[in-house]
Amino acid sequence: SFPAGMRGDHALIIPFTTSGHFIPLLDLTRHLVLRGLTVTVVATSDTLPLLSPLISDHPSSVKALVLPLCLEATSGWNDLTSCTRTAIRDLGTLHGPIRDWIAGHHSPPSVIISDMFSGWAHRLAQEVGIKSILFSPSGAMALSVIFSLWRDMPRPPPADMEDTAFAFPEIPNQPEYPWWQLSGLFRAHREGDPVSEFIKEAFLANIQSWGVVVNSFSELEGAYIDHLMKMVGHGRVWAVGPLLPVEPIVSSGQRGGISSILVEDLVSWLDSCGDRTVLYVCFGSQARLAEEQTAALASALEKSGVNFVWVVREDQPTKVALESFKDRVAGRGLVIRGWAPQLPILNHPAVDAFLTHCGWNSIMEALVAGVPMLAWPMGADQFVNATLIADQLKVARRVSEGASAIPDSDKLARAIREFINWEDCPERVRADVMRRAAADTMGHGGSSSENFDKMVKHARN
Ligand code: UDP
Repeated sequence: SFPAGMRGDHALIIPFTTSGHFIPLLDLTRHLVLRGLTVTVVATSDTLPLLSPLISDHPSSVKALVLPLCLEATSGWNDLTSCTRTAIRDLGTLHGPIRDWIAGHHSPPSVIISDMFSGWAHRLAQEVGIKSILFSPSGAMALSVIFSLWRDMPRPPPADMEDTAFAFPEIPNQPEYPWWQLSGLFRAHREGDPVSEFIKEAFLANIQSWGVVVNSFSELEGAYIDHLMKMVGHGRVWAVGPLLPVEPIVSSGQRGGISSILVEDLVSWLDSCGDRTVLYVCFGSQARLAEEQTAALASALEKSGVNFVWVVREDQPTKVALESFKDRVAGRGLVIRGWAPQLPILNHPAVDAFLTHCGWNSIMEALVAGVPMLAWPMGADQFVNATLIADQLKVARRVSEGASAIPDSDKLARAIREFINWEDCPERVRADVMRRAAADTMGHGGSSSENFDKMVKHARN
């Protein structure tokens, strides 16, 4: 445990278990440690290995609080909703054990920073009389939509909800979203169901947290950050992104998982391609395409004639789709089965565009690298994110939509061919503007770096 008398310098971090939530909160934690805080990170036997590098780099200021909890694996969009619901509920059982741990600690934390899926932590913080900060792995626009849904959804929800389109008139510049695009955010809410009620309470507690930290930046989402402040009724909303690992990009190949390919091999393959000739294709840590979708995508990549790196999850069915495909595209296409070192790929000069599911971390990482995107939103906050990057910021172009969509391979091939290595691509020009804004905001005197300092100062007092 920590030396006594350090109250005010000790933060308790409660991450959620999936990569898209864990990775950015761990990056944030590293920045807290570099600013002199000591941290305790709640871990389970599953997440402890992800924490090890942080602990071994800072053994005196980072501790893991490992609590017994066996979470079911959360993967695949089809059952993602139910798996996520279960994991959210199971993590909530740590409320009592964490409260006991705080009560028994000789220099207890002065603040809890908890992931969006651990909203119960704000009630816990109130019980023990300390501050709580919500960490949002989603952007400010998506968080505004999520807050509105949980706060305003009529109860019981309308029977004809499936056919309803939802508008968010309070939030600036929002289109109507058909219900199927939002239902993943609402986590299959069922009135009266105990898990649903627990999740609802946790989200309402998120809205009432003492502070909110968002992985975004004001040059990207200024209007939505302002809107969030209005929604929560105070100014303690800090945009501190883009959150990135502290170590250099090239050596961050193991971020969030063990890379299935040697980073050096990958880099030398990319080196052998011309600058700005490669399409990077990856749909994050959760999506698993069905066999027909994989086949359509393979066919589009083949017909497009462009160079590509395609990340295919290990447990994705590919028997028919990838048989002999790899031979036919040998030399210009690299298929990575498993976990890819996404940051080194996006930041390599050969990579010209990113076909993405519009996960928020992937978007932030593409913007940092100045890489324009082809958008295929599939679930969760991704439809909202696509509105931001394709329709508003115009750093992306839409090519498909929905977790079960099977794209027309001819159309997709054409879209890819036209996009790659296109001298005057307007999306690339916009992406380059965002790249510079992202670098400035994190630099000395930039808004995100100042917001980070403010957050730390508030959290300490
Ligand atoms: N990621 C990675 N390698 C992979 C797949 C994903 O490094 O093979 C990382 C990616 O860089 C990002 C995170 O995992 O930081 C995925 O988060 P995102 O919000 O994009 O999508 P999600 O997985 O939550 O759907």
